[in-house]
Amino acid sequence: MEFDLQPIKAATVEAKDSSAEEILDEQIKTLVNIAGRVTLNGPTETVKVKGKTLKKQEALFTDNTGPVRLVLWEQDTTKMQSGQCYSMTNVAVKDYNGTNYLTLTKHTKVNAAELQVDRQDVAVDNGKQMQVAFPPEGINYVQQYLSCNKCHAKVMDRPKKIIKCSECGLTQLKSKCSSKIIASILIKTDKDTMSLNIFDNIIEELYTLYKEQDGDIDKLFTELTDDDVTEILLTVNATVIFNDKKNASTVIKL
Ligand SMILES: [Zn+2]
Repeated sequence: MEFDLQPIKAATVEAKDSSAEEILDEQIKTLVNIAGRVTLNGPTETVKVKGKTLKKQEALFTDNTGPVRLVLWEQDTTKMQSGQCYSMTNVAVKDYNGTNYLTLTKHTKVNAAELQVDRQDVAVDNGKQMQVAFPPEGINYVQQYLSCNKCHAKVMDRPKKIIKCSECGLTQLKSKCSSKIIASILIKTDKDTMSLNIFDNIIEELYTLYKEQDGDIDKLFTELTDDDVTEILLTVNATVIFNDKKNASTVIKL
């Protein structure tokens, strides 16, 4: 993220009308006026950018010439509905790894529009999802940690009542921090092995399945130890879907 020290005056901004196809060849930092359909891609994420915690929403802008990635930040993440068409002015063209994408500026105006966009969305995620049959080959590690009440970062578990988050500085009661679990599993693929991540909610769903399958462990989810979680993951029968970031997203009962 770049922060302009000298804000551009609205009157001096000159945006040009542009199509998705043209945007891909456009100079970065150009401002464009566009009209087309916006499709939100996945949920709003929280990401760290230079020490700041920001809300980020991945989206796809599609007009009749093609699709362009659109990245929405902070208050912009709630400005648009998925599948709706909009006309937008003063949208910035930026570049990530040599590919242009769009992001809103403070001069951007967004208006819902009645448009006919014949082109279908390119399914960006398709083919990158993986279905994995559980149990996996092995467990790289299981780690339980406390998460900050404000920024959700991992906080150091010190033998103290009160702890301070090293990311956002929030001082908080340790007993009020929520406890999280992450597990890294190893699976065999055609040619190689691969490590994948599983987080709390999916582990909890797998634990419910495990109990339905007459597993030996019978405790509250919050009382599970790392060894319990390891045993559950290595014995449960299920199909788990992983997204393109190698994180578990859905459990399918067998
Ligand atoms: Zn924090």
